[in-house]
Amino acid sequence: MIKVNNLQHTFSIGKKGKEKTVPVLRDVSFDVKRGEIVAIVGKSGSGKSTLLQILAGFMKPEHGSIVVNAQEIASLNEAGSAKFRLDNYGFIFQNFQLMPSLTAFENIELPLKLKGMKISERRTRVEMIMKKVGLTEVADHYPNELSGGQQQRVSIARALVTNAPILLADEPTGSLDSETEQDILMLIQQLNRELDLTFIIITHDEEVAMIADKRFRMHDGKLVKDGDHRVI
Ligand code: ATP
Ligand code: MG
Repeated sequence: MIKVNNLQHTFSIGKKGKEKTVPVLRDVSFDVKRGEIVAIVGKSGSGKSTLLQILAGFMKPEHGSIVVNAQEIASLNEAGSAKFRLDNYGFIFQNFQLMPSLTAFENIELPLKLKGMKISERRTRVEMIMKKVGLTEVADHYPNELSGGQQQRVSIARALVTNAPILLADEPTGSLDSETEQDILMLIQQLNRELDLTFIIITHDEEVAMIADKRFRMHDGKLVKDGDHRVI
């Protein structure tokens, strides 16, 4: 479903004329099959979020290819890339990134509005997803009237609502207490099983990585599969 080959990326850091170039991704290759939960584990600054940004098409890699469902991401223009994201990806972030002025229901509905779906279809779809992730009771709450775990459920529901086959999660439980973290991890596993969804989870937390079918470790921009003992 996803095939990443020889990705390389360098950032330019510092003042103009005095920039330093820092390699952030070094020859990163991996693949993900449909229905897999894949974890990419690594310390802060190792390049995890950069990899996710490139995978999502928000950033172009300096070198390498990313093929998702037979489509090369790096060659898409901005509009093509935005359409590709809407059709293929759902995003889950550590800090939820909900719109504070919209209710839980309206936050989840937003991607469907962007897709131009009719209001009656939107309502049915949002209600179904809210039920699935256990949010029906709090549909009319604003984000600041929800607990952290509920906010993360809203963001997961928003990621699922368009029927995107691939969910990209950057530290999905990073700002939750350990009990709520377990709830969210169980929800991810349940959705993976029931809806055959593919998850790529980026984390520094070994416990989160435990739910994955396949684990990769990122270290100084290099990626190695768990169980592969090459020295990095
Ligand atoms: P964390 O766990 O703290 O989120 P991370 O593994 O996600 O870390 P990245 O955000 O990918 O790490 O950053 C990797 C490296 O690239 C860091 O050294 C960072 O300073 C650098 N970096 C990230 N974004 C940029 C940017 N836009 N411009 C320049 N350097 C950047
Ligand atoms: Mg990060």
